[in-house]
Amino acid sequence: MTKPMYKRIMLKLSGESLSGEKGYGIDFDVVNRISSEIKELVDMGIEVGAVVGGGNIWRGRNGGEMDRTTADYMGMLATCINAMALQDSLESMGVVTRVQTAIEMREIAEPFIRRKAMRHLEKGRVVIFASGTGNPYFSTDTAAALRAAEIEADVILLAKKIDGVYDSDPNINKNAKKYDKLTFQEVLEKDLKVMDSTATSLCKDNNIPIIVFALDEVGNIKKALCGEKIGTIVGN
Ligand code: UDP
Repeated sequence: MTKPMYKRIMLKLSGESLSGEKGYGIDFDVVNRISSEIKELVDMGIEVGAVVGGGNIWRGRNGGEMDRTTADYMGMLATCINAMALQDSLESMGVVTRVQTAIEMREIAEPFIRRKAMRHLEKGRVVIFASGTGNPYFSTDTAAALRAAEIEADVILLAKKIDGVYDSDPNINKNAKKYDKLTFQEVLEKDLKVMDSTATSLCKDNNIPIIVFALDEVGNIKKALCGEKIGTIVGN
């Protein structure tokens, strides 16, 4: 295996990616598989930060008639449940982790403190960032972009159910074309559904490349980090 191209990475795991085929809740077989892939990275000396989503449990937009802010805070709490599941799974494999939350809940996790997060990463601990940005009206994609900038990550790995970015939905259009490479400008202009525009702009402004790839195939995370052509790479 070739050497990894990146020293410090930010892995964005959507809530959906933790629910497997069920589409709701947490599938521990899937979480354990992801954890074993993360362990491989840690064993290779890669520093891993992870932002987890919450869509497998709750999304702000599920709130319907609810007050949007309350619904968003519920979504942020959902990310904490996922973070603890991932933490438990990683630790069962001997990977040292810390969960840091943007909303304080000191009994179960550390509050987000950038300098502490950096120290944990330097020591080889996986830092799982929970409760998004801590603000309603944002997404965990934006949290991934923000935390990646803060911890000076070299790249964001955006794990999806789909194996890259397409010009149209490949589930609907059989002739949909997959992009190998894109610029952030193209993503914004073509309104491609990679991340939301806030997250995309943040990555563009801070020059943080994103690799969009499918988590379903075992070994993809490592391949992507070793420069193999996996998924779609988005940069400036
Ligand atoms: N959320 C929020 N602020 C944030 C991050 C998340 O309000 O900074 C809420 C929002 O309601 C969102 C939910 O948490 O719908 C779950 O996050 P997201 O939808 O990004 O999770 P994913 O799609 O990655 O599973």
